[in-house]
Amino acid sequence: MIKIAIIGSGLAGISTALLLKDQADITLFEKARGVSGRMSTRMAEPYLFDHGAQYFTVRTDAFRSFVHPLLDAGVIARWNANYVELDRNKIIKYKDWAKEEPRYVGVPKMNSVNKYLARNLKIKVNTKIKKLEKGSTWSLLDDEGNKYSEFDWVITAIPPRQVTELLPDSFKYHEDIKKIEMYPSFSLMLGFKKELNIDFDAAKIINSNVSWISIDSRKPFRNNYFALIAQSSAEYAAQNIRRDKTHVIEYLIQETSDVLSQDLKSAVHKNIHGWLYANAVDQGKNVEFFDIDEKLAVCGDWCCGGRVEGAFLSAYNLAKIFREHYF
Ligand SMILES: Cc1cc2nc3c(=O)[nH]c(=O)nc-3n(C[C@H](O)[C@H](O)[C@H](O)COP(=O)(O)OP(=O)(O)OC[C@H]3O[C@@H](n4cnc5c(N)ncnc54)[C@H](O)[C@@H]3O)c2cc1C
Repeated sequence: MIKIAIIGSGLAGISTALLLKDQADITLFEKARGVSGRMSTRMAEPYLFDHGAQYFTVRTDAFRSFVHPLLDAGVIARWNANYVELDRNKIIKYKDWAKEEPRYVGVPKMNSVNKYLARNLKIKVNTKIKKLEKGSTWSLLDDEGNKYSEFDWVITAIPPRQVTELLPDSFKYHEDIKKIEMYPSFSLMLGFKKELNIDFDAAKIINSNVSWISIDSRKPFRNNYFALIAQSSAEYAAQNIRRDKTHVIEYLIQETSDVLSQDLKSAVHKNIHGWLYANAVDQGKNVEFFDIDEKLAVCGDWCCGGRVEGAFLSAYNLAKIFREHYF
């Protein structure tokens, strides 16, 4: 059986491993403490925050087939939110998601999805891969000097900038990948002692430096501790991503308070996460990077239009190419 190393254990890396596991001996490498990537959940007892992806839609048959068993297993559930669109603090549209295209969330947290999917996979967490070395096979070096050897193929499932930093110059798609851009974003996480009087569950906002607000504690099967997420606009994040965390928290609390027309300073838990590579700029992309000469391949949401479904589809497309051209 050939040996494959997959770098990154977000949905793209995990899906690739699941789709190829019968043909290959696969090891995933993940720099964080656990799997999930941008579908992670931040816990700050008793509060839970899905501080990356908020929900996902299912628009292709391939993803539908993948998602159905997750619904049956109770790992995801439909989120029938009361959704609004706001022009700063004025409601301009209202939608009842119970009557719309289904939106899904992991239960009881967003990271339940990847944890469940990864339960039988071989994963080395807390392992940041820094360099690849080529001999007759590939070796991977982590940032603590450990070496992992004898991989026939290496697949990356990480954002594009990190791909070009990591893969050697011999990889034939370097120049194409260098052109692909991602937007940054901040996720402000606020926990409150009491339920706030907000009469929607999720909101998309224009004309503000806050672009999204959701009441995480109102997603299905959450606990009752009132947890609110506010995401910054991409423009604000691009200008402030390196800025002092306290300043950004204070600014975004004020901005979110203005949008909601209520003072959020009473939050007992306040934190922020800055995502340097949050969302694909070009949501229409559908590209494949399979270098059969170097035995290097790439997947990730940004290869297939971004978002959760794009992460899965990039893995699905890559697994198909492997089956057609390699196994
Ligand atoms: C704030 C925010 C809100 C979002 N909202 C939505 C939404 O509502 N709906 C939706 O569909 N999508 C949303 N998205 C996008 C969605 O989260 C992503 O499209 C999807 O999760 C990407 O999965 P992925 O596997 O391609 O990448 P990732 O989840 O980013 O996985 C990459 C993994 O690689 C690891 N890694 C990186 N470099 C290395 C290295 N050198 N060595 C080892 N490991 C490494 C990272 O730690 C990470 O775990 C949102 C994203 C963000 C950030």
